[in-house]
Amino acid sequence: MIVQTADDGISVLVVDDSFVQCQHAVELCRQIIGGKMYQAGNGVEALQSLARGRVNIMIVDLEMPIMDGVELISQVASENLVEAVIIVSAKDISLISSVGEMAQADGLQVLGTLQKPLTETDLRACLDVYVSAQQPLGRGEGPREDVSARDLATAITESSITMHYQPKLTTQGLKFSGVEALARWEHPARGFISPEVFIGAAEAGGEIGALTMCLLRVALGAKQKWLSQGLDVKLAFNLSPSMLIKSHFANWFSEYIEYSHINPESITLEVTENVLLGQVGKGLMNLARLRLKGFPVSIDDYGSGFASAEQLARVPATELKIDRVLVDGVADRPAKRAILDSTIKLAHQLNLSTVAEGVERFEDYQVLADMGVDMVQGYYFARPMPARELLRWVRQDLPLLRKKLVDFK
Ligand code: C2E
Ligand code: CA
Ligand code: CA
Repeated sequence: MIVQTADDGISVLVVDDSFVQCQHAVELCRQIIGGKMYQAGNGVEALQSLARGRVNIMIVDLEMPIMDGVELISQVASENLVEAVIIVSAKDISLISSVGEMAQADGLQVLGTLQKPLTETDLRACLDVYVSAQQPLGRGEGPREDVSARDLATAITESSITMHYQPKLTTQGLKFSGVEALARWEHPARGFISPEVFIGAAEAGGEIGALTMCLLRVALGAKQKWLSQGLDVKLAFNLSPSMLIKSHFANWFSEYIEYSHINPESITLEVTENVLLGQVGKGLMNLARLRLKGFPVSIDDYGSGFASAEQLARVPATELKIDRVLVDGVADRPAKRAILDSTIKLAHQLNLSTVAEGVERFEDYQVLADMGVDMVQGYYFARPMPARELLRWVRQDLPLLRKKLVDFK
C-alpha cells in the first residue's frame, strides 16, 4: 500500500502497520501543513516508496511486521533518504526517546518522539520545528500568537521593548561573573508579553533583525552606563537561530561591537542547542567566525532537546549552559544527578565551562557546586532585574547572599 496524494509542498511519509492510524496521521498532516503525503504499512514498503524519491519528513511507528521502525530508521539514515523523522509508538516513552537519540546520532533531524495516540497538538509542535527551520529569513508565515507586525514594529521604534538582566555567579566563592540580558515587553494594553512569544513572532514575521538590533543597542547602553559607575559587566546575549543563518551576520555583529568600542570577550553569545540540529551549515560557520573574532559562545538550554555529545563537539563553543530541566530538583533525583555528572565531565573534556541555569533551591546549588559546575544562575540568587538595580544588587544584596550561604552550611 503506497499511496501518493495531494499537491506540492513538504513531503511526508507515514509508516504504520495500522491502516486506521496511518490515515489519522496523514489527515492531521494534511490539515496542518498540506503538501505531498505518502503511506506505507511496514519498513519494506517504506523503502520501496523512498526508492522513488526522498521525502522531507518520515513519521514512523516502531512495532511493525516484516521490517520494524528501528531497522527502517537506521537504513533511512545510512542512505540519507529523509531529512527528518517523527517517532510515534505505543511503547513507553523512554524506549521511544532512546530510538530518537539513536536516530539523532545517525544524523537524522528528530522533530519529536511521541507516544500514541497521536494528537494534533503534538504533531503540530513537531511540524512547526521543521517548518521554522526552513523558513526563508524575513518572510515567515509562522504562528504569531496575538502579536501583530504593527505592534512589534511600533514597540521596536518606540523602544518599549527593554532588557532585564539576571546575574551569573561562580560556584567558587559566589563571585559576580556577569549577567544574561533577557528581553521584556510591557505592552500598554495587554501587559507583560513573554519574550518567547514576541521573539517567536518577530522570527516568523521578519522583524527579528530589527528587534535584535534594538535589544543589542539597549544592552550595550546598559553596559556602558554600568562601566561609567565603576562596574565592568560581562554580558550574555541570546541569539535567535534565524539570525545566525543570515550569511553576513558575523560581520554585522562584530562590526557593531567594534564600533561601540567594546571588547568582544565581554559579550557571550548564547545559542540554543537546536543550532546543533538539522541543516546548520551557515549557523556553525557564523559561530566559528564569531569565535575567531573573540566572542565566547555558549550552548544554551543543553539537556532540553536532542543534541548529542558528538554534535556538541562540532560546535565552536566555550561554554555549556545546562537547562533547568536537568538542574531543578537535582538534589533529590539520583537519575538527574547521573546525567548532570556525565554532562559536566563531558563539557570539561571538551574544554567548555559550565553554567547551571534555573537554580531555585539551596540544596540544588550545593549539589551543583559539589559536582564541579563553574557558574550558577537562577531565582535563588536573583531574578532578572532592570539595569538600574544591578549596581545595588552587586554591592549590597550579593554580600548578604554570600553570608546567608555560609550560615546555611
Ligand atoms: P533562556 O535564554 O533559557 O533564558 C532563561 C529563562 O529562564 C528566562 O526566562 C529567565 O527569566 C528564566 N529563569 C531564570 N532563572 C530561573 C529560575 O530559577 N526558575 C525559573 N523557572 N526560570 C528562571 P525569560 O526571560 O522569560 O526568557 C525566556 C526565553 O526567551 C529565553 O530563554 C530565551 O530563549 C528567549 N529570550 C529572552 N530574551 C531574549 C533575547 O533578547 N533574544 C532572544 N533571541 N531570545 C530571548
Ligand atoms: Ca539564554
Ligand atoms: Ca536557557
